[in-house]
Amino acid sequence: MKYALVTGGSRGIGRAVCIKLAEMGFFVLVNFHASPEEAEITLQLVREKGSDGEILNFDVSSQEEVENVLGKWLTAHEGAYIQALVNNAGIRKDALVMWMKNEEWHDVLNTNLHSFLYVTRFLIKEMIINKKGRIINVVSLSGLKGLPGQANYSAAKAGVIGATKALAQEVAKKNVTVNAVAPGFIKTDMTKDLDEAQLKAMIPMGRFGKPEEVAAIVGFLASEEASYITGTVVNVNGGLYT
Ligand code: NAP
Repeated sequence: MKYALVTGGSRGIGRAVCIKLAEMGFFVLVNFHASPEEAEITLQLVREKGSDGEILNFDVSSQEEVENVLGKWLTAHEGAYIQALVNNAGIRKDALVMWMKNEEWHDVLNTNLHSFLYVTRFLIKEMIINKKGRIINVVSLSGLKGLPGQANYSAAKAGVIGATKALAQEVAKKNVTVNAVAPGFIKTDMTKDLDEAQLKAMIPMGRFGKPEEVAAIVGFLASEEASYITGTVVNVNGGLYT
């Protein structure tokens, strides 16, 4: 059994990733925080692909919850290890720096950046011992380019990009790859408050992307075929480069 964990698998890009990994034969652990019904729908869609999965409820920004829930799962599944980890859960709380509240800064850093440490550190030892692992971090164009009104989010995603490159070098000899995928504007709940008509004029392909278009590259990076790719950031943004 090949196990994969997708944080924030309940909705949006995370859901599409769960479905893609199910198609590839992974048993998918679908993490959610606030949307249990959406997580159930994802699990149903995973099963429709002929695979199976399980729902894990934890807040990625809480070290205690991450270690508690994943620790219990590992104890209950002796001998199993999570071969593919997709650090996808994320939030935005946009504000100009001069108006930004400490809470908006810390919430975004905790959920998008500190979560990387809590979840990855807990699972990477088994990947190293088994000499096989795939870590894929969902970052953002915002972390490469910096977007006004998103200093917190840009900082968090840039932080994950730096951590991706560093960790990739730490574990490369153990056959564990670490890569990031940087979406541009993708049609999900996260972007539903944005003015799509205005923003798509800036995108060479003239449209927002679909979650499945991000999931396709995440799936490839999780596959055997991607065995010599590590420490990279792959853009999925319709040509909207920095
Ligand atoms: P979304 O539709 O808003 O979904 C966010 C997901 O993250 C949900 O499944 C949510 O689960 C989960 N989540 C949020 N906080 C969590 C927490 N504390 N613990 C566990 N899960 C949590 O967003 P999306 O567009 O799919 O975004 C997915 C990733 O892509 C994020 O990292 C985002 O920054 C990145 N991204 C998105 C875009 C875009 O245009 N959409 C562009 C670049 C990067 P619950 O509802 O269960 O809490």
